[in-house]
Amino acid sequence: MTLEINSIKKKFDEHVAVDGISLKVGKGEMFGLLGANGAGKTTTFRMILGLLDPTEGSVTWGGERITYKRTHLVGYLPEERGLFPKLTVKEQLLYLMRLKGMKKPEIIKEMRTWLERFQVPEYENKKVEELSKGNQQKIQFMAAVLHKPELLILDEPFSGLDPVNSDMLKKAVLDLQQSGTTIVFSSHQMSNVEALCEDLIMLKRGRPVLQGSLKEIKRSYGMKSISIRAD
Ligand code: ATP
Repeated sequence: MTLEINSIKKKFDEHVAVDGISLKVGKGEMFGLLGANGAGKTTTFRMILGLLDPTEGSVTWGGERITYKRTHLVGYLPEERGLFPKLTVKEQLLYLMRLKGMKKPEIIKEMRTWLERFQVPEYENKKVEELSKGNQQKIQFMAAVLHKPELLILDEPFSGLDPVNSDMLKKAVLDLQQSGTTIVFSSHQMSNVEALCEDLIMLKRGRPVLQGSLKEIKRSYGMKSISIRAD
């Protein structure tokens, strides 16, 4: 299934947050959205997920809009992390993954696999508030992928992570892509895009200023001209 974004625009009253983004992401492909704070990345994701309606243009996945009926096929790591601090990791994931239609034994099995993989198997019964910010982020990531979504949207997945955890998460993202997951992620760092994918769009104040493969962009502009600052 292809994710297709056709000339989307989003206005909040008179403020234009996103203006003229078009892109296609095929099954098993990964696409990077690059931009500074306020560039329009989160607004674009909300339109992809059907949480916001575009003022103009359309977003389809496999030819249809993403509505609540298809949310079990989609994983979303929001920029504003939203875990319940008083719940244990297990309680947290049971709660969130049941909403996606998973059964308890499957949730427990997948949770243990991911906790092992993230080298924190002992966290199962720890309260979220006892974990460091970086480890909370790993749990939030698990909440986006435990149900094996076909489409994964990651909003600034690496922000606030130390290099070891950031590399661990990048490896997990690459493995998910290899197993056929379609992934769109945002970042304000070019190095993250370089580490993960070939195709990117760079936004400035809601508008695409560069789009294409990293190789082509580097050939045409050189890396020095790629400034991610807002102005
Ligand atoms: P950040 O990482 O800072 O969230 P971003 O690239 O994700 O940056 P957005 O959150 O999409 O950017 O915001 C783009 C612009 O739209 C900003 O100027 C923001 O203030 C504005 N904006 C976003 N949501 C709303 C809203 N609900 N009402 C009004 N303005 C909004």
